[in-house]
Amino acid sequence: MAVILDGKALALEIRAQIKTTVGKLVEKYHVVPHLAVILIGEDPASQSYVKGKEAACQKAGIKSTVIQKPVTISEAELLTIIAELNADTAVHGILLQLPIPKHLDPDKIIALIDKHKDVDGFTPENVAALTNGRPRLVPCTPLGIIKLLKKYEIPIAGKHCVIIGRSTIVGKPMAALLLKENGTITICHTKTTNLPAITNQADILVVATGQPKMINGTHVKDGAVVIDVGISKIDGVICGDVDYESVYPKSAFITPVPGGVGPLTIACLLENCIKCYQTFMEGNHD
Ligand code: NAD
Repeated sequence: MAVILDGKALALEIRAQIKTTVGKLVEKYHVVPHLAVILIGEDPASQSYVKGKEAACQKAGIKSTVIQKPVTISEAELLTIIAELNADTAVHGILLQLPIPKHLDPDKIIALIDKHKDVDGFTPENVAALTNGRPRLVPCTPLGIIKLLKKYEIPIAGKHCVIIGRSTIVGKPMAALLLKENGTITICHTKTTNLPAITNQADILVVATGQPKMINGTHVKDGAVVIDVGISKIDGVICGDVDYESVYPKSAFITPVPGGVGPLTIACLLENCIKCYQTFMEGNHD
């Protein structure tokens, strides 16, 4: 019987700790941590994610401001907004909700966010720090996964960690974090040949493809740890990239969808936000 990795419970634990920390920090500095979120367009999924982030901030005692802009926003206007938020000493964290419209270059825009306010850990400076093994602000989803593995005392050192997906949001930072924990890393993607032969070697399998239920029992060796990052809907029902029914009996540990990785992403966003705030308050930014 697999152990179900309860991301929801761990996220609540982290969020309670953050709330306590925020209370103490506000008492000390008399300044409320403030996250600014830039939301472009009317995409319902993005709107719903932003609502979730706002609610989580509010519960933790963090102020959040959503800057909502139409899908037609120009690059120049967006860059001006980011420059203003960078300069605003009352804003400690900046989040650009992705995806952004096709006429805007996300790499160019993200690169202009102040690295000390980069709550997503996506700026080139923070990506480089992670790649160099000295993480500062780290992307929230892979950070949450490491916390979950540690919470359940799942060893990473020396284990073969197979990651399916090479996005800059999940797959690549996941690889860097697992490598930092001394895992042996394989990254698979759409051009990988004979995927099952590789996934069957995985002690820890992280699946982040956005392809609902693409990984089934035949892809997984007995006793594997299976982390499902995917969030999709089939007939209106939320599911992950892993076919839970066939993988559960073979795995030693598995994340459910929902209730696994998702809640930890938000908890880690709050944590990053507080990290930005503390760096600012302590004057530790270079
Ligand atoms: P993405 O589309 O940017 O990247 C998907 C990756 O999967 C690509 O690198 C691609 O090469 C790989 N891939 C796709 N199909 C494949 C296949 N058949 N075989 C091998 N590799 C394949 O996606 P992303 O932003 O990394 O997100 C992946 C999934 O995770 C999505 O469902 C997304 O909604 C979800 N997600 C969840 C959270 C969370 O908090 N739970 C956070 C971020 C993303």
